[in-house]
Amino acid sequence: MIRRSILSLLLLIVLVGCQQSKTPQNEAKTVDQPQIEDPVITYEEYSGTEPTKPEETEFYEPVVPEVKPYAQNGAPSDAIILFDGTSLDNWVSSSDGSQAKWILNDDGSMTVKNKTGDIQTKDSFGCVQLHIEWKSPEEIQGEGQSRANSGIFLQNRYEVQVLDNNDNPTYTNGQVGTIYKQGTALAMASVPTGQWNTYDIIYHAPKFNELGGKTKSATITILHNGVLIQDHTEIKGTTPYIGWPKNEAHGKGPIRLQDHGDNSRVSYRNIWVRPLD
Ligand code: MG
Repeated sequence: MIRRSILSLLLLIVLVGCQQSKTPQNEAKTVDQPQIEDPVITYEEYSGTEPTKPEETEFYEPVVPEVKPYAQNGAPSDAIILFDGTSLDNWVSSSDGSQAKWILNDDGSMTVKNKTGDIQTKDSFGCVQLHIEWKSPEEIQGEGQSRANSGIFLQNRYEVQVLDNNDNPTYTNGQVGTIYKQGTALAMASVPTGQWNTYDIIYHAPKFNELGGKTKSATITILHNGVLIQDHTEIKGTTPYIGWPKNEAHGKGPIRLQDHGDNSRVSYRNIWVRPLD
């Protein structure tokens, strides 16, 4: 009898402990803690009892917003069109904010005008889905990092490398599709030189506390011509040519395209973005 009472008391303590841990904040943490082994606690996270009807595990709120794909010359209906080939009006020179000076081509693309400097969007962005297409010039010039080098900077800081890597080796962490000078790409998935590449990028901005310390790194996923080359990769900080990554606090920033300054002649087209924050 005494033993049964003790067991009952212990069971009550466990159950009370479980109930106290069911605050909304702790629920989210518990989902991320697969080390919890007690299946009873797992069931408690949902309803306390195993559902017996399909309706008990179905919900209808929130209603998912409808987005029409291919609605704007291939872009989704809710995308912000940054460049559709008709003008450079959404872009400015990074050096002084004047109108972008790159070359607007008849085929709906634009090309880096050598030594006119980087260009960047007038608008600023944080977390985004970004679609961008780029092409190296057919006429090959230079080697290594000097062959059709450009880049796409998220939040004006973090460079996704653009480079003609076809039969053109360079340092691994500076290859096409790398977060420049950080780690490696999972694959080199470029099309032949002179053809159009696509990058589809999912980017989550870093977070900083009120003292300026980074509390969460940026992450990036990239499909290069449909091939996964960055898989939720942590961005360690800025991507300088010389030096380690830096992590000064910042908010939203423009998307910037690089003029590498060595007659890269890289072209871009069909640039659109969907803000994710
Ligand atoms: Mg570059």
